[in-house]
Amino acid sequence: MDNIGNITLEEAPDGKAPHCPYCKAVLTTIWVRTEGLGFQGQKSILMCPHCESFLGYNAWKR
Ligand SMILES: [Zn+2]
Repeated sequence: MDNIGNITLEEAPDGKAPHCPYCKAVLTTIWVRTEGLGFQGQKSILMCPHCESFLGYNAWKR
């Protein structure tokens, strides 16, 4: 458990899945599109498989 200001972060219980903020579907599957390999690092976008909305963006370097 961790705290940021007055917000508490804790592990979600097993079996819980997020809901798409757009179509409200339960996201037991999230689509990922990844580009870039190796030294450049990778960039990924996350998409709802139900309504194809953009859910998030991720970039990391090795
Ligand atoms: Zn959706």
